[in-house]
Amino acid sequence: MKRKLYYQDAYHKTANTIVVNQAHDEMGNWFLTLEETIFYPTGGGQPHDIGKINGIQVTNVEEVEGEIRHFIAGPQLEVGETVTLEIDWERRFDFMQQHAGQHILTASFVELLDIQTTSFHLGKEIVTIDLDATKISDDQLNEVEKLANQIILENRSIETKWVTREQLEDYPLRKQVTVDEDIRLVIIPEFDYNGCGGTHPSSTGQIGALKILDTEMQKGNVRVHFVCGGRVLEQLHRKQKTMQEMSRLLSASEEGLVQSTKKLLDNGKKLEKMLEETHEQLLYFEVKNLLSENGFELSIERVFQQRSIQELQKLARLTVAEAPKSRVIFIAENEGLLQFVLARGSENETNMKQLAAQILPLINGKGGGSESFAQGGGTTDLSGADLLKKLC
Ligand SMILES: [Zn+2]
Repeated sequence: MKRKLYYQDAYHKTANTIVVNQAHDEMGNWFLTLEETIFYPTGGGQPHDIGKINGIQVTNVEEVEGEIRHFIAGPQLEVGETVTLEIDWERRFDFMQQHAGQHILTASFVELLDIQTTSFHLGKEIVTIDLDATKISDDQLNEVEKLANQIILENRSIETKWVTREQLEDYPLRKQVTVDEDIRLVIIPEFDYNGCGGTHPSSTGQIGALKILDTEMQKGNVRVHFVCGGRVLEQLHRKQKTMQEMSRLLSASEEGLVQSTKKLLDNGKKLEKMLEETHEQLLYFEVKNLLSENGFELSIERVFQQRSIQELQKLARLTVAEAPKSRVIFIAENEGLLQFVLARGSENETNMKQLAAQILPLINGKGGGSESFAQGGGTTDLSGADLLKKLC
């Protein structure tokens, strides 16, 4: 079997070749096709390479009907010209680490738990695989991660081999191969045998490390988030910074962070409760004051500025509880909105529902309630004092 594309020999960072064609697609995007290429086109879950051809930026590489298109800003080269290719090696090596790491992680899930991988996504920051499993325990994840890192540590070779369909039978493949010719096997001896056209480092040690970060449920199955190689250090660096900042803010050691955070949250809740109780007490004093000013008269009317309807309700309930013979009309002017609360004590017979029905048309309002307690609000040009006058 002849190799047609030498991007699959993963370590070509630069190469010389000849421009075969320069054209644009139906969208007007210009591209080059080359005699041979080291640029990897999007495929098999691995993103395309970027880089330069004779110093011209290559922004995208796609395989269209067997042709590998290198997209550039415009027609800047000649057909037949010999050009120098240069790929963004940092990006490519990162993808090689993530992609090969995924081979090993997938194989580890099969090896230990007999769980297959159904899909794979290589993102900008993290990588995910979807498992054919509805749940997975932390212990199982730890075991799988341990095996994957063991395979990486053993620095096994990652070999590639071109085989025919008939030769496939000689290998214990993880997954059925879907192509009939130019079959490329990626082999980690005695561990993983896969049909794959992607790019990989030549040994598992170059993956460096693999860290599972998280899991989530995706359409009823488990999705595993992980990173490999340089991304493990990036993650560690970021998390370390967050931890240090948290430690500083909470004046706690890393080990004490969880406990300190819990304590802080508990304190917050206690304070909130205390504040609520203090507020209740204040309202109670306000009621006492109101009643002493009013001399426990039957009708207590007040206009307030900027008070919530909830607070008005509390105030009204406390007032009629203290003065059972009274009825109250409390109005709040809240930025163009006029809100009211009506309440009666247990020894008063005014129908508050009826009174509310009388007020609502005056303020273009909405509201309602029971015979003993009602509320509402509306937008009107009337002031609270105007409204009270209309009711008397
Ligand atoms: Zn692969």
